[in-house]
Amino acid sequence: MDKRTFLKVGSIAGVGVIATPLVSTLLGCGRAPGPTESSADNSTSGFTLPELGFAFDALEPAVDQETMRIHHGKHHAGYVRKLNAALTNHPLSGQSLEAVLAALTASDTGLRNNGGGHFNHALFWKVLSPAEAHNDKADLLAERIQTSFGGHEAMLEALTKAAGTRFGSGWAWLVQDANEPDRLFVASTPNQDNPLMTGIVESDVQGRPILGIDVWEHAYYLNYQNRRTDYVTAVLSRINWKAVAGLMA
Ligand code: MN
Repeated sequence: MDKRTFLKVGSIAGVGVIATPLVSTLLGCGRAPGPTESSADNSTSGFTLPELGFAFDALEPAVDQETMRIHHGKHHAGYVRKLNAALTNHPLSGQSLEAVLAALTASDTGLRNNGGGHFNHALFWKVLSPAEAHNDKADLLAERIQTSFGGHEAMLEALTKAAGTRFGSGWAWLVQDANEPDRLFVASTPNQDNPLMTGIVESDVQGRPILGIDVWEHAYYLNYQNRRTDYVTAVLSRINWKAVAGLMA
């Protein structure tokens, strides 16, 4: 990593650390051991698969048990394993997940797919709730949704549209503007890209992701086949808005 890249990564990571915890910390993504950690083996990294926080069947009928088991235990676990492998002896080893994602360029295929895959799925599990969507979301989130979208329904519509119109595999996001914290917006990215990849995604997508909807077929095909909109609607009825509010800066 050259000096300019290092400074860029350092400043991005620093803003998050000073102002508020990194989302990846709140999600329990783990952290790669750095050179200053004497007990750590610097040739490996320690990103870990977070627990779901609920049983595999807890989201039925919105998301079926078998899909959850494979999605968490195989897909997400695979991203974590390959991310750690890709960071072995890599200059970015030891950095936070946010710093790794911010430093990526389009050609960093392994870190892009697997770093994104790890963060995105950890966020997805965190904002899903076994209970029906409830209205006790934090006042601040409600206020920000109101001023940013004109209301909760309008925000859900924007998310549904972003998820439905993403061609192929990808994600729909609710994002907090990094420079203007009261402003929330909806965005979508292909594959495992996300709004933290500032070297890859367009500037109008960049920010702090506080909700992600997985629209890869592996997230819904067993239960919904090609009916992506039905899946998205069902998932949006199972969002834990309190958890979403807790991820805001
Ligand atoms: Mn997935």
